[in-house]
Amino acid sequence: MQTPALTELDSRYLIHPVSNFRDHQKKGVKILESGDGVWLTAADGERYLDAFAGLWCVNVGYGQQRVVDAAVKQMQTLPYATGYFGFGSEPAIKLAEKLVSMTPDSLQHVYFSLGGTDAIDAAIRYITHYYNAIGKPTKKHIISLKRGYHGSSGVGAGITGLPAFHTNFDVPTPSQHHISCPYLYRSEFDTPEALIAASVKELEDKVAEIGADNVAAFFCEPVVGSGGVVVPPKGWLKAIEQTCKRLGILLLLDEVITGFGRTGKMFACEHEDIQPDLMTMAKGLTSGYAPMGAVMMSDEIFNGIADGPNKAAVVGHGQTYSAHPVSAAVALEVISIYEEGLLAHAQNVEPYFKAKLEACLSHPLVGDVRNLGLLGAVELVADKATKRQFNPALKLSETIADIAWKHKLIFRAFGDNILGFAPALSFTEADFDTLFERLQLTLDEVL
Ligand code: PLP
Repeated sequence: MQTPALTELDSRYLIHPVSNFRDHQKKGVKILESGDGVWLTAADGERYLDAFAGLWCVNVGYGQQRVVDAAVKQMQTLPYATGYFGFGSEPAIKLAEKLVSMTPDSLQHVYFSLGGTDAIDAAIRYITHYYNAIGKPTKKHIISLKRGYHGSSGVGAGITGLPAFHTNFDVPTPSQHHISCPYLYRSEFDTPEALIAASVKELEDKVAEIGADNVAAFFCEPVVGSGGVVVPPKGWLKAIEQTCKRLGILLLLDEVITGFGRTGKMFACEHEDIQPDLMTMAKGLTSGYAPMGAVMMSDEIFNGIADGPNKAAVVGHGQTYSAHPVSAAVALEVISIYEEGLLAHAQNVEPYFKAKLEACLSHPLVGDVRNLGLLGAVELVADKATKRQFNPALKLSETIADIAWKHKLIFRAFGDNILGFAPALSFTEADFDTLFERLQLTLDEVL
């Protein structure tokens, strides 16, 4: 049972990520004790259906013994190996080769980080180094999407396009810029084509305003995740890729959420056959069983850095735990699970998930539903006809998540009243039935 002492200690000592410090102290922590498949058991002894795979990461579900065995075996054999000073380890090298074979041909080299935030940081540092090395030192500005999320580091938080990550943190910096999110439901455009054309024009105008010689790269998620699961119209990413090429700026795809089967392909860029210059990944890479992320880059960037004027010097970017062998062993096992049938299963159940989401549209509170693969959202509105939003200050989605908790269901509540779903790829039709029954009970209780 959850002891008052533990709750009290949490509130006194533990700072939770992206939380309101005082609200959290008032509400208290919900302590999770164990996981099994798609279920979590909390310290209250109750079992909860996890429709968010932890933090959109536990794609293989909880309790995968073969992943645990891989971690134990690696810990027993070699729990740590540095990548510094010319050392390396077998699982990290094999994982790098595996990732190159799984991703678009444009990506040929991998740097391993500890998660998504520092994969983005590493990307920014390598891009900076690259442009200095090839004699284009003015190309330093980065453009990204409003609502986009690219981690919360000192620099990355400014590339993130969510106000909560800027307020009081003195970002974005003058070299970080944002353009509109391709969010059809909340846009002024009636057709996907018009939205795509406007998005391309906005990117072109922004590059012209900054000067193409000053712009390094465009960063985006193939589906905006933490900004409210915004699925861009089909064709948007292709149009953006072509625009970046035409304007001579690098394209970084942030597949931290969308990678590893989440959208119905191993990587979301496969839906439109995109060849990015850089890609970041984390979460589903290890399915949350161990911390790890990666940034992948093209030959052009790698060679630009390797053969630049400072080629006799070290490239000064690294971390003690880069390419950690235990995380790499975990990732290799997790990838085998995707390839041995889990990705195919996720593709098979996607139409069922989609149909269940679409059925939610008959509820008076639901204005929009959207998904790509097993990444989905339900958007709540105060008025369906006008799409009027509830006042975000009411924090309705948080209230709804609290009600869902009473119904033993976990999903993610976004600030502007969007409910996010990212179930484990192992969800069955019966699990989806349970999810949507509990969601219906939850929504009915709000009315
Ligand atoms: N990029 C995207 C698209 C993300 O969704 C996240 C985390 O949610 C990050 C980067 C940061 O990853 P991490 O939390 O592992 O540092």
